[in-house]
Amino acid sequence: MRQVLGGTVAARGMALGRARLAQPSRYAVDTRPLADDEVEAEWQMLERALETARQELRELREKLTGTLAREVNEFIDAHSLLLDDAELLRGLEDMVRVGRYRPGAALKKQRERLSAAFAAMDDPYLRSRKEDVEQVINRVIAALQRQTSPEERKLAARVGEILVADSIAPADMAQLAGSGLLGVVANAGSAYSHSAILARSLGLPMLVGARDALSSIHDDDLIMLDAERGEAVVHPAAQDLTRYRSWQRGLAAEGRRLATLANQATRTRDGVSIRLLANAESPADIAMARARGSDGIGLHRTEFLFLKHKRPPAEDEQFNAYRDLVLGMGGAPVTIRTLDLGADKADAAGLAMRGEDNPALGLRGVRLSLHYPAVFSTQIRAILRAGCYGPVRVLVPMVSQPDELLAVRALFNLAREELRQENVDLPERMPLGAMIEVPAAAINVRALLEHADFLAIGTNDLAQYVLAADRNNDALGDIYNPLQPALLHLIAHVISCARRAGKPVSLCGEIAGDVGFTALLLALGLEEFSMHPAQILQVRDRMATLDHARLRRHARRLLRAPTHEAVAQLLDEIVADASAPPQPADEAG
Ligand code: PEP
Ligand code: MG
Repeated sequence: MRQVLGGTVAARGMALGRARLAQPSRYAVDTRPLADDEVEAEWQMLERALETARQELRELREKLTGTLAREVNEFIDAHSLLLDDAELLRGLEDMVRVGRYRPGAALKKQRERLSAAFAAMDDPYLRSRKEDVEQVINRVIAALQRQTSPEERKLAARVGEILVADSIAPADMAQLAGSGLLGVVANAGSAYSHSAILARSLGLPMLVGARDALSSIHDDDLIMLDAERGEAVVHPAAQDLTRYRSWQRGLAAEGRRLATLANQATRTRDGVSIRLLANAESPADIAMARARGSDGIGLHRTEFLFLKHKRPPAEDEQFNAYRDLVLGMGGAPVTIRTLDLGADKADAAGLAMRGEDNPALGLRGVRLSLHYPAVFSTQIRAILRAGCYGPVRVLVPMVSQPDELLAVRALFNLAREELRQENVDLPERMPLGAMIEVPAAAINVRALLEHADFLAIGTNDLAQYVLAADRNNDALGDIYNPLQPALLHLIAHVISCARRAGKPVSLCGEIAGDVGFTALLLALGLEEFSMHPAQILQVRDRMATLDHARLRRHARRLLRAPTHEAVAQLLDEIVADASAPPQPADEAG
């Protein structure tokens, strides 16, 4: 019988497919106590399940590349650490050996205990780790299930399926999307979670908070997921299927229309030319950046190369990667960002772990690079050598004061000298730019402009540092809002100072590729946007509908709005005005 379940849209879109339930938290467990002679074998079974879970996470880490890896690896690392947590393991072993719990019952009990302990914590960050603990233990339970009942289906999506789950870990989301999953319906979760952000960037429709999903939906039920309206329709009727087909036709028409924009110039409705650059890591990103007619690479994050091998890569290995990137862009400018590792990730690259209390405020980005001059110089030599193959700019992350830029420039000069003596070909000039992602850099940007050839505003971090809100902490969703007036003031200040100094300024945080922010950033005077290449056509399309002169006239009002809610409201008005039909006054103005 047709049934409609309501939920909150976490990632828009629609999908029609068979339900696949993943609910390790609801598996029935055998609560009979173990007999003496069963203990050893059962403990070994649990150890195998733990090892399977660790192995799954390792495999996931290897499979993921590019921006996705960056998003997900932090979770994979956190989950891997939990799986090796001595206290968790000791607790489980005691329960099996002393308490005579069967492995499934022991895991369930531990999950309940830990999740209650985390839920009771005062610190909202620690409270939000409850979900991590549950997801990790559920992974072990699922591995155990597969051992005890081989017919149990794996949590591996097959083409044509919609996952119905309690909640879904970001790592699983990435893996499932790659194996043909069509969409996700989650009982719990929020639209601000990292899984939700990932679902959006993967183009996977997702509904969260669909409270009755797990109790009402069964494996293989046909579901129409409507993450436009916020519904999951179980056993859809003819009228639902008609709606789905009409949505599909609309989507295809929109795709065809956008495809025609691939090689067009980017202009606002009144003809102002805007540069659209790509944030590109993998060969697939680079191919997409070219296919969509980007004006170059505005951000290439080099830390992936370091994290991939868990050690700093050799000069030639880096040179080959950077050269391929430059060649891949066929003469368009490429911005290579120097290493942006934080203390939390430094160990993964084989650099000494500092055990800092506040890694986000610690030895991160250029601070870490300057701390390891030998590692940094190797990277600098590789970048300089790649610069012979096309136009390259160097971007320095986490700059907080001019000294850092001067120190980097000195290392570049030194490396040039060395390479010259080794008779290695060198590019004549390589512009050096600063990322503006620390409030001090934004406020004191004039001083930086004395030494920087260009700037790139990193709003992902600038927002977290100006608002003192961890960008990875889901519990802070409403504070970490890129419409916050304080952030807009800094963006506007940086853009206007750079323009006055006659130096290029781009913005490469997530908001650059979000059409909800296009009008706002144009109003603030931004003319260079750098985004994931998948967003380029939508942003180009949006720009063509907006009148630049009208937007600019609203900048002051936008900056006077006192709260992010007021900015959002004003933005709606401004977009309506800038996309209203042209008036004779526009021509005159
Ligand atoms: C940013 O902080 O906005 C940025 C683009 O850098 P990342 O996301 O790599 O920190
Ligand atoms: Mg950053």
